[in-house]
Amino acid sequence: PSDFQGKHVTVAGLGVSGVPAAKVLHARGAIVTVVNDGDDARAREQAAELEALGITVRLGDGETLPEGTELIVTAPGWKPDKPLFLAAGKAGVPVWGDVELAWRLRGPDAAPWLAVTGTNGKTTTVQMLASILKAAGLRTAAVGNIGVSLLDAVLGEEPYDVLAVELSSYQLHWAPSLRAHSAVVLNLAPDHLDWHGSMEAYARDKGRVYEGNQVACVYNVADKATEDLVREADVEEGCRAVGFTLGTPGPSQLGVVDGILVDRAFVENRQKNAQELAEVSDVDPPAPHNIANALAAAALARAFGVPASAVRDGLRAFRPDAHRIAHVADIDGVAYVDDSKATNTHAAEASLASYEPIVWIAGGLAKGATFDELVARSAKRLRGAVLIGADRALIRDALARHAPEVPVVDLDRTDTGAMLQAVTEAKRLAQPGDTVLLAPACASMDMFTNYNQRGDAFAAAVRELGA
Ligand code: ADP
Repeated sequence: PSDFQGKHVTVAGLGVSGVPAAKVLHARGAIVTVVNDGDDARAREQAAELEALGITVRLGDGETLPEGTELIVTAPGWKPDKPLFLAAGKAGVPVWGDVELAWRLRGPDAAPWLAVTGTNGKTTTVQMLASILKAAGLRTAAVGNIGVSLLDAVLGEEPYDVLAVELSSYQLHWAPSLRAHSAVVLNLAPDHLDWHGSMEAYARDKGRVYEGNQVACVYNVADKATEDLVREADVEEGCRAVGFTLGTPGPSQLGVVDGILVDRAFVENRQKNAQELAEVSDVDPPAPHNIANALAAAALARAFGVPASAVRDGLRAFRPDAHRIAHVADIDGVAYVDDSKATNTHAAEASLASYEPIVWIAGGLAKGATFDELVARSAKRLRGAVLIGADRALIRDALARHAPEVPVVDLDRTDTGAMLQAVTEAKRLAQPGDTVLLAPACASMDMFTNYNQRGDAFAAAVRELGA
C-alpha cells in the first residue's frame, strides 16, 4: 500500500523494533525521523546505518515531538506518560507500536493470528502452539519475543497459513486495531505496574487481545480476571468463550480427567461429549502451570480446526526453552534447577509450587512488586533462602513476617560474582532430597544483562561446585 507516501512519521526509539520499522516506512515513501533518548556507541552505529539510507535520526532527545509529525511508531517499551506522547495526544497524532505497524502492513491474504498474552507462560505457550500447528501440517511460526520477528513474519518471503503470536502488555497497549482469529490471556498477576500505572490499566491492556476475536476467546477458569476480560470484550458474532482448567472441564472447556487432556469445547464427533487430546506425561515438564500452558495452546489450535492427534504429536515434540525450570545437575542428592525466567512473583510461585523442600535463591529488581503473598503461600516448602540483588530487603522482610523460622542468607552484593557465593550458601543449607531453585521473582538487570545471563551464571556456579 502507498498510504505512507510523503507522510511524516516519527519512529520513537532505535533498537530491535525501531530500526526495522524506520527502514520499512522509508521504503514505502514515508519521511521518517527517528528520535532516541540515548546517545551511546550502539545508538550512533544504528543511526549511521539509517542516515546512510536518507533517514533523519535525532539522538539524545526522545521527548520533543518533531515538527509536522503525522504518525508516531513507537518501541513498545516506551511509557505512555512520556512528554512525547502527551504532546502527540494534544496534537491529535496517532501512536502505533510495532504490533500495530505489522498488523497494518500485512497483505490482503495474510495469515490469521492466534494470539497469546498473560503475565506468565507466553513464550512457552506460543512455542507449544507452533509445535502443534506444525504437527497438523500447517505452515506457521512462533512469532514475538523469540523466534521470528513480527515484521519479518508479515512482510517476509515465507508464506504462512497461520501465526502463533506472543504479545506483551506493552505491545497490546499500542495496538488499537489488531483483530486476532482467537486469543488467550493465560493469567493475570501484578507485573510491570510501574509502566502501566495500575493493575486496572495493566488488565485493560491485556484484555485488548480479545477485541474483535473471530472464533474463540480462551480464558483461564482458575483466574476469574481473565474471564471478566472476555466478558467485557467486543467480539465478532459467533465468537465463543472457551475455558481451560486443570480440573474436570465443563461444557465449552478443556481440562484434565485421569491424567488425560480432554476437550469439551471443540468436539468433532457428535456422539461424544469430550475428545481426548494427549496425556499429561506428553507435556515437558509436566508441572501444573505447564499443563495449563499446554491446554491453552491446545484450545487455540482446536479453535483453528486442528485434529486431536496433531495436538498430541505437537506437545510430544515440544521442548521448553532454556532457563524455564531447567534441571542443571544433581549433586550429593540435591537437585539444582534454573528458573531464571521467573522474573515476577506469579512465575516464582508456580515454580516454588513444583518442588519441596526448597532452598530458594531469589532477588533482583522488584519492579514495584510486593512479596508477602508469595512468601506466605510458599513458606512451608522452604528449607532456606539465599537473597541477592538490589531489592532483596523486600523479600527478606516478607520472609521475616511470614516464615520467621526459615534460615535466610542475605548476600549484600550485586556484582556478577555473587551468584557463585549464593549457590555455595544454598548448597550448605540443602539436605539430600532438596531442590536448590533459582526463581528470583525479580528482574535481573541490577546484576546481569538479562535473565539468560543470570541463569548461565547459576549453571556455571553449580558446575563449579560439583566439579
Ligand atoms: P513469558 O513469555 O510470559 O515470560 P515463559 O513461558 O517464558 O513466559 O515462562 C516464564 C516463567 O513463568 C517460567 O520460567 C515459569 O517460572 C513461569 N510460568 C510459565 N508458565 C506459567 C503459568 N502458566 N503460570 C504461572 N507461571 C508460569
